[in-house]
Amino acid sequence: MRIKNIQVDIVKIPFRKPFTMAMWTSKEKIHVVARITSEDGIVGIGESVPLVAEFGEPAKGIKEIIEQYFAPVLIGVEIFDIEEIYRRMNAAVKFHWFAKSTIDFAIYDLMGKTANVPLYSLLGGLNNDKILLNWVIGIQEPENAAKEAEYYFNKGYRSFKLKARESDRAINTLREVRAIVKDKAKIRVDANQSWSVSEAIQTINKMEKFEPELIEQPVSYWNLEGMAQVRNATNIPIMADEGVVTINDAIRAVRLGAADIINLKIAKSAGIFYSRKIADIAEGAGLECIIGSMLEGWIGTAASAHLAVSCKSVKKGCDLVGPLLHSDQIVKKENFGFKYEEGYLKLLPTIQSGLGVEIDPLKLIQYQEKVNENN
Ligand SMILES: [Mg+2]
Repeated sequence: MRIKNIQVDIVKIPFRKPFTMAMWTSKEKIHVVARITSEDGIVGIGESVPLVAEFGEPAKGIKEIIEQYFAPVLIGVEIFDIEEIYRRMNAAVKFHWFAKSTIDFAIYDLMGKTANVPLYSLLGGLNNDKILLNWVIGIQEPENAAKEAEYYFNKGYRSFKLKARESDRAINTLREVRAIVKDKAKIRVDANQSWSVSEAIQTINKMEKFEPELIEQPVSYWNLEGMAQVRNATNIPIMADEGVVTINDAIRAVRLGAADIINLKIAKSAGIFYSRKIADIAEGAGLECIIGSMLEGWIGTAASAHLAVSCKSVKKGCDLVGPLLHSDQIVKKENFGFKYEEGYLKLLPTIQSGLGVEIDPLKLIQYQEKVNENN
């Protein structure tokens, strides 16, 4: 079955409340939505949510890359020839992982729908039907972070991720949240590259008494050597995020001893195709993985969830809470294959073929957006 048509839309959906990370605060999220139609009329859907400060690739750029560079070389290609699809995309455009991942999600959805099986069946089968979630707490005053943690602890969450930037505030936030959840929940800290090597070592050593589960991306993405220094000088497991994007980065991280865990984010690694390879490298090197998030809506979150339940190396809490942070979604709710319940994302027996989610065309129109240069 061959690719007949590729269509791309940009939508903007408000967050329930503004969200702050190391590099930005935002009231809403831009989503790039791709629909790929096969010759027999089946439609696969994909999504990417640009994080421009961290990874580049604004929404308009993703749309343009897909429409002007990918569509012309992909129309007519057999949908199950994923190696050929990547060969053509990589030959047409260097880098641009988010644009490639948008196509990748839609192709995998199309493969699942055409084979009439859930996507996880194509990725290794169902190893686990529920995914432990981290509630992700944006940067804010420590007492407010503690209140948010208490609220979600009472809703059943037992794993938290604290976004961090300034060292003192990060330590104080960890202390306050630990005081709330005591030893009943895991807490991890994500610095999003905020610290120098020496600052990271000092900060993590001060955090040790509050028992963080792990520290995520303490130093710059390019500094895997520095991250290895941090890992050697501290006692808390280190997780690579922005530092491991390609399969080559994963090999380097393993060789340097830079990380104990890899945060797989499908979008940053150009899709499920390469993310599965990184997960395999991690498994072979004795590292664990978690599945992270770009705070996607249901399309990207579903793709991540299918990978999470099919990967043996995914063991700790995953960040798949994006749909809960948005005020609305562009997918239909009937035959919905997922449910948030007491700190887990569960795959339901009702899950249908492919990703298990469908676009609601009216919502797509409602949130369609003319996007300015900064998006
Ligand atoms: Mg991260």
